[in-house]
Amino acid sequence: MTPGRPFAPVTPAPLSRRATIGILGDGQLGRMLAQAAQRRGFQVHGFGQNPDSPLAQVTQAFTCAAFDDTAALDQFARQCDVVTSEFENVPLIALQQTNCRPQAPIFALAQDRLQEKQAAEAAGLRAAPFYAIDSFDDLQAALRHVGGAGILKTRRMGYDGKGQWRIHPDMDRINPNRPDTDLAALWAQTPGRDLILEGLVDFQFETSALIARNARGHVALFPCGQNVHRDGILFQSIVPGQVGPEIEAKAHAWAGQLAASLDLVGLLAIEFFVLAGGGLIFNEMAPRPHNSGHWTLEGCDQSQFDLAISALVNEDLRAPTQLSPAIMTNVLGQDILTPKTGPKTFWHDYGKTDPKPGRKMGHVTVLG
Ligand code: AMP
Repeated sequence: MTPGRPFAPVTPAPLSRRATIGILGDGQLGRMLAQAAQRRGFQVHGFGQNPDSPLAQVTQAFTCAAFDDTAALDQFARQCDVVTSEFENVPLIALQQTNCRPQAPIFALAQDRLQEKQAAEAAGLRAAPFYAIDSFDDLQAALRHVGGAGILKTRRMGYDGKGQWRIHPDMDRINPNRPDTDLAALWAQTPGRDLILEGLVDFQFETSALIARNARGHVALFPCGQNVHRDGILFQSIVPGQVGPEIEAKAHAWAGQLAASLDLVGLLAIEFFVLAGGGLIFNEMAPRPHNSGHWTLEGCDQSQFDLAISALVNEDLRAPTQLSPAIMTNVLGQDILTPKTGPKTFWHDYGKTDPKPGRKMGHVTVLG
């Protein structure tokens, strides 16, 4: 015991390169995470629902079972030295039973827009005004507080703009005969409870911060870029885009505050709205690699996947260096594209066989 520090926390030593990393999920984030781990000599064991998924295609072992199959989870956890998740809506039981990093309570916050915003505010970040909505009366009262304009969202399971309804100040009046412009008709489309109303933010553009933190509290942050959405789905990340040093410094400071307050181990992505004067508003967080960080695969000397693995296995973290300006563009199922690669153009195919509109099939990063 160190004299004077009787309660010094015990932090695990870095894992050996022969260790097995478990990944919960099926998707492209898990695939790129697995590839980063494998490049460094780790074994990867996936746990998901589809034996031919983007993740399953690249892992050394894959358990195909339901996320609430406790026997399968138990066996999986015993075969892994450390477990992470590439999918934030994994049932908490799976995260708890596998002792997942980032920790299950962080996922619990990220799975609930209300608790997520409360946690962000508690860490000193600023969010748009928000109100829990469980009835039409709640909605009408909250709308009065936000001046009539807002976005109603499901608290849980919303992604890529799904489970969201925009409300205009004159909604009840613009055209009372058209049901889709009527507030009551809009309300009828919602689940009617477990919703949140957010004030509408008049932002200039969107950005995101990516922070890795290990069990010893060391952090590393990636350069921030400008995120462009189309139909609620990320279309491009442009780095740096319109993000100047002051905005980046603020985004990094807030990311550090939030990661420390959550005692994060792993990678956390935080989305922000950037206001006209350069102020930031917290939008949401995801305790996993993020689509807006895919450019780091070629644009930085270490990618978001590399640092997620470093944090997970408790290695020292080194700040990533940006090698070049970059633009990352998502390729969706409806896009007709003949991918070209070249010295500065990099195509990533996620190995999905059934293109559907809005489904992320791959991405292209152009440097320079
Ligand atoms: P979300 O799923 O919360 O990230 O929302 C999807 C997209 O909707 C965001 O990337 C924004 O472009 C837009 N959006 C969400 N919330 C707000 C808000 N409170 N004010 C203005 N735009 C928003």
